Amino acid sequence: MERADFDTVVVGGGAAGVSAALYLGRAGYTVALLERGAIGGQIAVTDIVENYAGIPSIRGPDLAANFARQLEKWRVIVLGDEATNVREGEIITVGTYARNLGAKCVIIATGSSPRRLGIEGETKFIGRGLSFCAFCDAEFFRDKDVAVIGGGDSALKEASYLSRIVSRAYLIHRRGRFRAESANVQLIDGNPKVEKVMNSNVIRFLGHEQLEGLVVRDSQTQRERELKVEGAFEYIGRVPNTSFLQLAKDPADYLVVDENMMTSLEGVFAAGECTSPKWNQLIVSAGEGAKAAISAVHYLDRKQADTT
Ligand code: NAP
Repeated sequence: MERADFDTVVVGGGAAGVSAALYLGRAGYTVALLERGAIGGQIAVTDIVENYAGIPSIRGPDLAANFARQLEKWRVIVLGDEATNVREGEIITVGTYARNLGAKCVIIATGSSPRRLGIEGETKFIGRGLSFCAFCDAEFFRDKDVAVIGGGDSALKEASYLSRIVSRAYLIHRRGRFRAESANVQLIDGNPKVEKVMNSNVIRFLGHEQLEGLVVRDSQTQRERELKVEGAFEYIGRVPNTSFLQLAKDPADYLVVDENMMTSLEGVFAAGECTSPKWNQLIVSAGEGAKAAISAVHYLDRKQADTT
């Protein structure tokens, strides 16, 4: 039999991947965790987490630092690399830009990335005023006018966060009603620094080297208006990071998993936001990571029993 480099390779270092890796490490299996960015994923760029049972309030970066410490404690090898493919075999191969890793089982926890508007000027102004992370970039726009685009929980929470820093945040939503939960709607209702621009679509970003403004079109009157902003933050939902995988996916490219979190390929499990857009919550991702890892432990135990 071929030799595996690790019992498990976990792809992704957000809440799902870290939770899975901890469970496998604690079960005594060897684990490598691939993370192309920073451990913590979206949590590392979240201001405050207040909805994780048992932790009344914690800064996102502090929670991410705890993730990293816990991985170290359970001897998880963290590799700063990106998976480019997962190949079937007696030993499953996870290809990266730097190497091939052989594993007896794999957990995919690659999460999701921000959806983009796909309009004129968008690509040009990314990093030049256009951002997908208020927590990372708000400080560049202290006392300036910005726009937040979207009407879901993310857009409203981030508009509220930005209002503590910027001069004014236009909150631009394509419909007349937000889809966010009422606690988040309350965050911006009556906030003097958040100006709602409802029933409006951003159709163009404007500027020379840096973003200088954008054009919105009212969906009822078709009237166009220019808003002068130095920053814009897109929060229009997310897309799963699954394009590198040849596994069964739903029509929106989320990985299909069974009740044990196993994908269409035996020995490859998946957890978190790469499996569904429905529950984008830290606690759900962490729970799914644990579920996938428990299934993986049973799978590895069975494999070990078969070879002895
Ligand atoms: P989301 O709930 O999918 O909302 C995306 C928003 O962007 C919607 O208002 C949508 O408009 C709008 N949108 C989508 N495509 C657009 C386009 N092409 N042009 C203009 N607007 C567009 O995404 P999210 O806010 O990132 O949240 C994702 C998930 O995480 C949700 O399940 C959410 O509940 C959860 N979440 C929860 C919290 C919390 O505090 N509980 C915080 C963050 C995220 P329509 O409304 O018209 O469709």
